[in-house]
Amino acid sequence: MTTKKITAQEAIALEDKYGAHNYHPLPVVLSKGEGVFVWDVDGKRYYDFLSAYSAVNQGHCHPKIVKALTDQAQTLALTSRAFYNDILGVYEKYVTEYFGFDKVLPMNTGAEGVETAIKLTRKWAYKKKGIAENQAKIVICENNFHGRTTTIVSFSSDPDGYGDYGPFTPGFVKIPYNDVNALAKALEDPTVAGFLVEPIQGEAGVFVPDAGYLKKCSELCKSKNVLFIADEVQTGIARTGKMLAVDHEGVKPDILILGKAISGGLYPVSAVFANDDVMLVIKPGQHGSTFGGNPIACKVAMAALDVVKEEKLAERAEKLGEILRKELRAIKSDMITLVRGKGLLNAIVIKPKNGKEAWDVCVKMAENGLLAKPTHGDIIRFAPPLVITEEQLMECVEIIKKSVLSFE
Ligand code: PMP
Repeated sequence: MTTKKITAQEAIALEDKYGAHNYHPLPVVLSKGEGVFVWDVDGKRYYDFLSAYSAVNQGHCHPKIVKALTDQAQTLALTSRAFYNDILGVYEKYVTEYFGFDKVLPMNTGAEGVETAIKLTRKWAYKKKGIAENQAKIVICENNFHGRTTTIVSFSSDPDGYGDYGPFTPGFVKIPYNDVNALAKALEDPTVAGFLVEPIQGEAGVFVPDAGYLKKCSELCKSKNVLFIADEVQTGIARTGKMLAVDHEGVKPDILILGKAISGGLYPVSAVFANDDVMLVIKPGQHGSTFGGNPIACKVAMAALDVVKEEKLAERAEKLGEILRKELRAIKSDMITLVRGKGLLNAIVIKPKNGKEAWDVCVKMAENGLLAKPTHGDIIRFAPPLVITEEQLMECVEIIKKSVLSFE
């Protein structure tokens, strides 16, 4: 393996020639990160306004999390679940007390967490709710994003996500997002076992539902003995200004899925939480993962979750989010047609001008030292690491303003 320093052009050419073409990155080649900043191979510094899709809430290479990772990597990395180890149980106690559930099931990626929640819901439907074999349904929302596995893309609304990947997994009922009546109607079917929802639809473009939506959905689910399953892979861990986005409405999900920032972006860690009446329907041998809950993952996650509380990241996200949205709304450009979000999960909607689109705005912001990525052609997400200071945030607002106004 060669570790020779390569140029941006060489790095891009290598990815193009040897990697599958399943992404279309901005033409920036990064080689270092620290806190809110990343640097490219030429030493140019950028504010990271994507935070690896909200995985790096604690900032890049947080020293406390790096230490947890390197210490454990030199001690014991992986045992598999064929044997006990001295870290997993400690982590399970820590994390279940942290989020207030009886049990956790550790996995690695967000999509695996969602798959786990789907399997758990179905097994609960047969073992506890008494739904006839193979009849259980899960209600999901239009424009959802829950990951990339075959089952999950079976209920995607995005042709890029599901196109040519059939045949699809049955058992999902699609309803409009942010529509309580649609859920009430769907729940009239007694074979519905669960309702899987993102508290804010992140990949759809940071779509924030009406106040009270989650609360009403959770009450409807309770009244019909249907599991309320919150996918907080993107919204969780302080991103929206509370530890969980459901906390804004005092909602307690029956199943909670976390990923991304549970490790501060240092390691693939995901987790599914439920109380005993649900979680214990899965018996030994009925689900698992070689890497899920490995000692490094457990140590990294505990350190990452410590940091969230120690550095009051939820409070910071809440306060700075208000400031960011106010400042973005004050930018006088008819290219910005909408500013929305919660905490530090935000987006602007861009109306093309003189042939310049959201992509061009992102390229311009990169030139000016701030990285963000367009989604669905016209939406730009702004989600910096939550360790950003108010002063840094104001500098970022100036960069965004300057970049947008350059197309006037
Ligand atoms: N759920 C949600 C809400 C997400 O935003 C994502 C990733 N963007 C996932 C699941 C999938 O996570 P992963 O990419 O780690 O599989």
